[in-house]
Amino acid sequence: METSTFDPTRGEIGDLDSIQRSEKKLRDWFFREKRDLPFRRNRTPYSTWVSEVMLQQTRVAAMIPIYEAFLKRFPTPSDLAHAEEEEVLQYWKGLGYYSRAKNLQKGMRKLVQEFDGVFPRTLESALSLPGIGPYTGRAVLSISYNLPFAVLDGNAKRVLSRFFLFRGNISKSDSILQEIADRFLDRKHAGDHNEAVMELGARICLPARPLCAQCPLSQDCRAFREGAQNEIPVPEKKAREIPLGMRFLIVRAPEGILLLRYSERRFFKTIFSLPFDWEGDSPYDPDPNIDLGIEFSNTGSEFKHTITHHKIRGSIWESVLGSDEARRLEERLLREKKEFGVEWKWCSWADLENGFPSSVAKKIRRALSVSEGELPGISRGKNLSKNRREE
Ligand code: SF4
Repeated sequence: METSTFDPTRGEIGDLDSIQRSEKKLRDWFFREKRDLPFRRNRTPYSTWVSEVMLQQTRVAAMIPIYEAFLKRFPTPSDLAHAEEEEVLQYWKGLGYYSRAKNLQKGMRKLVQEFDGVFPRTLESALSLPGIGPYTGRAVLSISYNLPFAVLDGNAKRVLSRFFLFRGNISKSDSILQEIADRFLDRKHAGDHNEAVMELGARICLPARPLCAQCPLSQDCRAFREGAQNEIPVPEKKAREIPLGMRFLIVRAPEGILLLRYSERRFFKTIFSLPFDWEGDSPYDPDPNIDLGIEFSNTGSEFKHTITHHKIRGSIWESVLGSDEARRLEERLLREKKEFGVEWKWCSWADLENGFPSSVAKKIRRALSVSEGELPGISRGKNLSKNRREE
């Protein structure tokens, strides 16, 4: 059961004077201190939409060069709507979570087809677009149209819960926090206000040791007044880490390196990847893996990778096929395609990171070059330590 010292129905949010005073101080601070970020220079609904989607799960510094290249290649909704999905995914490389890119493009297609490429002005219509959820819809409407919608991301939740001494579990209190955010919203300057709250959370009201002495809200911040800023938000239990052993399989044929897309598997389901399986039993049941019918050799090269709370130890295996074996493999894949919808393609080793647009591809190339200084498919003698039938 959640507990909170805040009850929005009884109006314990603070007096109007202190709220208005804080809104103004926050806005002044933002105009003085805001970072000059590329996505703040031209706030069209399109650029805001793209930047907000990219910033989910990605740090600003990592996102900026990708954002700039993306906007240069796809400068309008129409450019993105009409692009090949493969190309969009390549421009998304480095951000991960490729389903976001696919939904962004789907949303842009609907925007072009049903709204003439003009972002709607109501939340209801905005939410009808694929890839637009309550946060992104509110962000675009407030930042690009200055409409009075308060946004709630992780930074905003932390700032608001401290400022109003909200002691509930912030990951399970969206409706209460949204009500707090709505009442704290500076309605005349909604876009700047929203950005200011999030900027304050990113730079001053930090998760650990907030910089209250530099904060424009300290005079009216309830957590600061009560010395409770380090206790709020109440820490959540972390998801338990799951160690996984994954085998990545390099199939080298005269046509190139085999890549698969299998939409029903746990990982990489939206992109082409190297085939993979598990060391030991599959940790997921069901796991619709496919039998390639090939023997693989262990290269002896390994790497580490993290996907959400999965700590992965990746090992790299390979198999070199002649043209007859490659043809038999394609026939097998054709049957799998009919039955399970698996897709495949061949790509050159040099193009692996474009064909398999994940940082795993880069780690695999690096692991192989560090250990061998050679490309896969070149015999390594002593390193062919184990043979195992693909199961
Ligand atoms: S005074 Fe401290 S706890 Fe309160 S909003 Fe500012 S940084 Fe956060």
